[in-house]
Amino acid sequence: MRRLGLLALSLLLLLCACTNAPPEPTTAPVEQDLFCMDTVMHLKIWGAHAAEDSEEVARLLQQLEQTWSATGEDSVPSRLREGDTVDSLTEEQRTVLQRAAELSARTGGTFDPELYALSRLWGFLGEDPHVPTQQELAQAMELRQWDLGAAIKGYAGQCAAELLTQRATDGQACALLNLGGNIQTVGDKPDGTPWKIAIQNPRGDGYAGTLQVHGTMSVVTSGDYQRYFEEDGTRYHHILDPKTGFPAKSGLASVTVICGDGMTADALSTALFVLGLEKGTELWRQSTDFGAVFVLETGEVYATEGVELSGCSFQVIKREK
Ligand code: AMP
Ligand code: MG
Repeated sequence: MRRLGLLALSLLLLLCACTNAPPEPTTAPVEQDLFCMDTVMHLKIWGAHAAEDSEEVARLLQQLEQTWSATGEDSVPSRLREGDTVDSLTEEQRTVLQRAAELSARTGGTFDPELYALSRLWGFLGEDPHVPTQQELAQAMELRQWDLGAAIKGYAGQCAAELLTQRATDGQACALLNLGGNIQTVGDKPDGTPWKIAIQNPRGDGYAGTLQVHGTMSVVTSGDYQRYFEEDGTRYHHILDPKTGFPAKSGLASVTVICGDGMTADALSTALFVLGLEKGTELWRQSTDFGAVFVLETGEVYATEGVELSGCSFQVIKREK
């Protein structure tokens, strides 16, 4: 009888261990800051092995920076500029370039992953920012050289989410990764409420609004306030219109994209910024894989149908015209 009781107790304990109970709401996350990809990143990870997970994510991000930096000595873009061919790359690296090319085609070339010479000429890659001459611009626009700066942080967020999901022994990865404005959520928030992500006010302190997202998502913002210089009273920002060679002037101050795929979210945020509200809305109507929030230079806010935005007044962009 006693043995039966013990057996029942062991079975009960086993059953409890097997249920996929979410992490305790009270469990404190492990937090880590790092400087990577030219920006400050903040990792917040929950779970039993959060400290090791955080180290692994940091290592992955640093490795992706080395591989994809536009200027890094032995990075893929640098090697291709120096004359290496795509055959010398790993399959994964070729896939990233292939996906970048597909995203460029999808956005009518407004996301253009081969603008290295142009960004460098303007000085947005670190050197002496200045307005180039028309002749310099024409020459730089002729050159097609890889720069995945507009998509790689999104890709990195997605890789980090995959890594954490693989490492979660209970299948319940849970993290909030802020990769310098690119937000990657992983799994559900421990207390069961949606993740809340603030959209920065592009023209001052505070926020333009707050988004609610569920599960694993990428939330990526491109804005004219993120990197810029001023010359003769004019602001020149880092998102270039591949057609003109100049910083895009589409009436937008920022665009935020919410998408399950990080690289797509990042490339689309840049593309929508170049396209502006009207053409960006057209691209959204042709798609089913993302939502967007447009903040205009005037301060007006537009959000596509289905996006959970609060904390500001905004107009909803409907799927049907
Ligand atoms: P993001 O902040 O994601 O919008 O990316 C901007 C960065 O991508 C810039 O700093 C440039 O290195 C590069 N870039 C600028 N304009 C474009 C563009 N139209 N398409 C792709 N990359 C761009
Ligand atoms: Mg981008």
